[in-house]
Amino acid sequence: MSVAPVPTIELSDRFARELAELAVPWQAEPAPEPRLLVLNEPLAAELGLDPDWLRTPDGLRFLVGNLVPGGATPVAQAYAGHQFGNYVPRLGDGRALLLGELVTPGGKRLDLHLKGAGRTPFARGGDGLAAVGPMLREYLVSEAMSALGIPTTRSLAVVATGRPVRRETVLPGAVLSRVAGSHLRVGSFQYARATDDPDLLRRLADHAISRHHPAAAQAEHRYLALFEAVVAAQAELVARWMLVGFVHGVMNTDNMTISGETIDYGPCAFLDAFDPATVFSSIDLGGRYAYGNQPLVAEWNLARLAEALLPLFGDDAEQAVPLAVAALGRFREQYGDASLAGMRAKLGLPATVPAAEVASLTADLLALLQANSVDYTSFFRRLGSAARGESEPVRELVLDLAALDGWLARWRALAPDGAAMDRVNPAYIPRNHLVEEALAAAVEGNLDPLGRLLDAVTAPYDERPGLERYAAPPPEGSTDYVTFCGT
Ligand code: AMP
Ligand code: MG
Repeated sequence: MSVAPVPTIELSDRFARELAELAVPWQAEPAPEPRLLVLNEPLAAELGLDPDWLRTPDGLRFLVGNLVPGGATPVAQAYAGHQFGNYVPRLGDGRALLLGELVTPGGKRLDLHLKGAGRTPFARGGDGLAAVGPMLREYLVSEAMSALGIPTTRSLAVVATGRPVRRETVLPGAVLSRVAGSHLRVGSFQYARATDDPDLLRRLADHAISRHHPAAAQAEHRYLALFEAVVAAQAELVARWMLVGFVHGVMNTDNMTISGETIDYGPCAFLDAFDPATVFSSIDLGGRYAYGNQPLVAEWNLARLAEALLPLFGDDAEQAVPLAVAALGRFREQYGDASLAGMRAKLGLPATVPAAEVASLTADLLALLQANSVDYTSFFRRLGSAARGESEPVRELVLDLAALDGWLARWRALAPDGAAMDRVNPAYIPRNHLVEEALAAAVEGNLDPLGRLLDAVTAPYDERPGLERYAAPPPEGSTDYVTFCGT
């Protein structure tokens, strides 16, 4: 039998070197019996990692952090964060490790990161572990988001560890390996600011500029330009979430990136029936992170980022605060523009239709969807057929047909393009009842439903015969979905 040699995997420790104050060198806990549950072969190839090697015993040890490539320095990252509005000065990676940064054959620098790799110095009361179900959930939803064209961390693999995890019951443990533009968060800046070390804050900002917003380096006020770039990236991101009906569920400042990528898929879920008050997370009792609140929360989080960056905006607050306020003020405008452009595309309307008309059609449609509890994703997908003259598929979803027909007549008069709509309105999203079904089977050892759902949601616009149940609204009685955090 031939043994595949360990390939050279170069992982840079640039973060650990440049920002040592935010990095605690640490090792993953040994996994007694690593077993591959899912591997993202196309992503592995993009990263320059050999999928065949990743499947070998050494490859699995690499994917759980037990085989560390030479020269790499895995670290737990320190960050702070506002959790549900309350400031926590020291959070950090309680159960995650940054293995290092990888430069892809395409020249992109990406973090390679593990979740569920054991307790770290930031673990507080936690066990440092993750269960199979929630890690497969992050894998599935993040890959669906990526296929929808939404900036996000990506998932490389989920490996069962053979280690039991104690929650309400004993569950099988797993490690998720994921990649990201970086894991810099609003909370990273809050942590650096709280150290009262202006040099650390400046180094962190310079690091963020170089990794994510290099144009800011050319600006007259580079740190203000960094903040403006994050505001713009988050305005765009949250608009994209809203357009597909995504609810993040735990938009704490430690879960908001500087890169503008979606991160930390915990209690997230997609809307079925359209309702801005929708909350899935079991712990979000006040509805702070409800679907309709997400733009406001993003703006609130960005205000916390501005506070953290303030010393870099100017020597005295009197000068710095108005600059920060003006930069933050652009969020609403940018969010509004991105949201309107996205709705224009979802409705298939040409650029010649005035913005005010798109906005008014959107507002009336969303009110109608809400009043009739209409399945959001199905409605927009079926609206493509209505643009081609076939209205019955959307009419089947709505009770108040007089209102719908009136709206359709107004919209159709603007000559919507059905084919263009099919390219932006997904047929397949990770619907809650399908996710639950796939995860329940996976935890029992049957990975087929997960594989089928992954196939559907990773080509979301390409409607295929045989996948009808993946495109359909949930069956009656399967609503009132609840998701859980930190599992
Ligand atoms: P989250 O909101 O899920 O991103 O997690 C918030 C914080 O709790 C982060 O600092 C995590 O590292 C930490 N955390 C969550 N689950 C665990 C766990 N099982 N053990 C240790 N730390 C955890
Ligand atoms: Mg987090």
